[in-house]
Amino acid sequence: MSGNVYTILDTRDGEFPQVNLEALAVGRLIAEKSGKDLISLFFSDNPSAHLDKFAGRGVKKVHLFASPELGKFNLEHLGKLTINKIGQENDSIVVLPANIHGKELGGYLAAGLGAGYVTDCTGISEEGGKIVYKRPAYSGKVIQKLAASAGAALVVGFRPNSFPVPEADATGAPETVAETVSTEPAKAVIVEVKKPEGAALDVTEAKIIISGGRGLQEGANFSLLEELVALIGQGATVGASRMAVDAGWRDHQAQVGQTGKVVSPELYVACGISGAIQHLVGMSSSKCIVAINKDPEANIFKVADFGIVGDIFQVVPAICEEMKRVKV
Ligand SMILES: Cc1cc2nc3c(=O)[nH]c(=O)nc-3n(C[C@H](O)[C@H](O)[C@H](O)COP(=O)(O)OP(=O)(O)OC[C@H]3O[C@@H](n4cnc5c(N)ncnc54)[C@H](O)[C@@H]3O)c2cc1C
Repeated sequence: MSGNVYTILDTRDGEFPQVNLEALAVGRLIAEKSGKDLISLFFSDNPSAHLDKFAGRGVKKVHLFASPELGKFNLEHLGKLTINKIGQENDSIVVLPANIHGKELGGYLAAGLGAGYVTDCTGISEEGGKIVYKRPAYSGKVIQKLAASAGAALVVGFRPNSFPVPEADATGAPETVAETVSTEPAKAVIVEVKKPEGAALDVTEAKIIISGGRGLQEGANFSLLEELVALIGQGATVGASRMAVDAGWRDHQAQVGQTGKVVSPELYVACGISGAIQHLVGMSSSKCIVAINKDPEANIFKVADFGIVGDIFQVVPAICEEMKRVKV
């Protein structure tokens, strides 16, 4: 049976996250290039509350999986329900974000569906009649180009913030299908999610990241960056180098880099971060990089679009003052 393009979507704390809209945009792009239909599998404790989000995004059909257990991410439930739904199809393309849960689910689905797996996809094009998926490899030193073999199923994990999300168009609302959900008790469940203090928005989903490193000298000085983030408002969050995390100044959730998270925000501001290769791996695909460092030879300036050679304790408050002035 020939397959479709499927986006796997869920809700978090009852919210429909922005990354879902990006998944729909990526799914639509692949559907248009492949001539397949775009279908969504939507898992939630209350999926009906979010149906308006699907209108005007090129989705043909939304399968609604509703159950209280689906209000929290559970690998087995989402994995098994997805495989049961689409496992008989030959060449389906499954799209999901390459964030923490998405990477875990992507591997489960690729194994269960016998599909290829493209992780961390940052670009999609057509070459020689094939859809080509681009992803950074070897710490971002090369860009790999991958294509599915003819007739093969594929799981595509896209790096959040790598694809534009167009405004909804006039294509209207998709058909909805309520699915019967029967879930066996999972072998492991998430009992509680503790949000890190001081970072409401996850770095992988932020449009603007103000990141701090050893140059901040102590954890309390991150309040400088928090003030700037508060002035910027929605879509901004605080990130950190591993050094700042290892020192206990920030939670590991905020760490950017090889052993932290890979981010692609519109704007990344590195404050007192030297630019070690393990840090650059996590942020060099940001659209615009600003570095503030008192050492003009710091490696971070090699990847920065704009560099400020100066003391963060003078530069960051000056930026905050200017922002307050222009906001009035
Ligand atoms: C296997 C492995 C994995 C790793 N994974 C990661 C990772 O995921 N993420 C990560 O970040 N690192 C990672 N590291 C660590 C990495 O190698 C660096 O040690 C780390 O990134 C350095 O953090 P930093 O830039 O904050 O500190 P430093 O390298 O000490 O740099 C501090 C910078 O602040 C500047 N500075 C100091 N005072 C001021 C001031 N007042 N105003 C302006 N600038 C100032 C200095 O000039 C300097 O450039 C990893 C290392 C290994 C071996």
